[in-house]
Amino acid sequence: MVYARSLTAIPHLAHLSKLLQRLPPIDISEHWTPRMTRYIPLVRATQPADPTSTPIAYDRKAVIQDLVPYSFLHGRYDDIYTLTPRKNRSLWTALVQGHYEWNPSIKEQFDPVYTPKDREGPPWFTVKELSHWIIKHTSLQRIRGIPQHTSITVYMAKPRFLRQCWIQANPKKYMLPSTRIPMSPAPAIMMSNSQWKLFWRLPLPHKVRNCWWRLLIHKIPDRRSTRHAHQRSIDESVCQFCQAVIEDTPHMLFFCPRKRSFWQIARFTMQIDIPLSSIWDTLNFRSKTNKITMVKLAYILLVFWQMHWQCIFQEIPWNTTNALVRLRRLRWLTTPD
Ligand SMILES: [Zn+2]
Repeated sequence: MVYARSLTAIPHLAHLSKLLQRLPPIDISEHWTPRMTRYIPLVRATQPADPTSTPIAYDRKAVIQDLVPYSFLHGRYDDIYTLTPRKNRSLWTALVQGHYEWNPSIKEQFDPVYTPKDREGPPWFTVKELSHWIIKHTSLQRIRGIPQHTSITVYMAKPRFLRQCWIQANPKKYMLPSTRIPMSPAPAIMMSNSQWKLFWRLPLPHKVRNCWWRLLIHKIPDRRSTRHAHQRSIDESVCQFCQAVIEDTPHMLFFCPRKRSFWQIARFTMQIDIPLSSIWDTLNFRSKTNKITMVKLAYILLVFWQMHWQCIFQEIPWNTTNALVRLRRLRWLTTPD
C-alpha cells in the first residue's frame, strides 16, 4: 500500500491499512470515471511496456492528477498531449517514448473525445463500481467429496469470512508453538507479599529493577511473544544467536548456550555463592538467597538485557567479553564500593 508509511503517525489508521493490505488488490474498473481515477496511484495506473526493462524512479505516492491535470469544469482530464509536467518527469518521458504504458482503462479517458459513460446514482463509488472486487475462499468442509468454492464481493463479506480467508491463505502466520508445554504462569502470581516487599526494597537503580520486574510479570519481549506484532511464523521466531530453538524468555535470558558462558563468568567475577543451576530459580523467586546475591544477580540480568538488544540492533553475534566489560562499568558507576 502506497500510503502505509504516512499513516504510521496515527495508530488506528496504520492498523486499518495493515488490515486492508490483507484483502486482494482491487483492479481498475471500466465503470470508474476520471472523477475517481484521478486518485489512483501512478504505480497502479502505469506499467513498464516491457516487463524486463529497468524500472524508473518517480514519486511512488503520486496519483494520476499529479501528472495529468484534471478539469473540474468538465469532469474529465485536460488535453494531455499539450503539457509538460514539472514533477515525475522521468515517468512522463518514459510514457511518451513508449517504455511505459497506461492501464488501458485509464488510457481511453485521456482521449480528447472521451465522454464519461452515463451513470446512475451519486458521483461517488457505488456498489456497481466495486462489484469486480472479489475474494475467493475454499471451504474445508467437502460436500460429497467436492471442495466448496465461494467467491464473494469484498464489500459484502463479513469480517469472519475475511478472517477465515486470510488465515487459510497464510496458515503459518498464526500457528501456535507446539515444541514446548504452554508457558508456565508468571512468577508474579506465585509470589508472596513478603517476597514482593523484599523485591521493592532491594537497593537497585530503576533500570535494573525494571528489567527484573518485567521478568516476574512475564513481559519480556522475546521473539516468541512478539511474533504476532512482527507477523513472524513460529519457525521464524528462533533464537538469533544459536538458531536452535524458539526464543522464549528463559532461553533469551538464561538458557541460550551462546549466553550461558556469561552467566558462568559473571557468577565467578561477582563472587556469587549459589550454584549456576539455581540462579534461574532465584531470579524467579522460587528459591531463597541473601539480599546481596540478589542485587548482584539483578545487575547481571540488566547487562543481559542491554547486551542482547545491542547485538540484535547492530546485527552482531553475542560477545561474552563485551558483556563482562559492561557489567564492570555498570557496577563501578552505580555502587560506591
Ligand atoms: Zn539461543
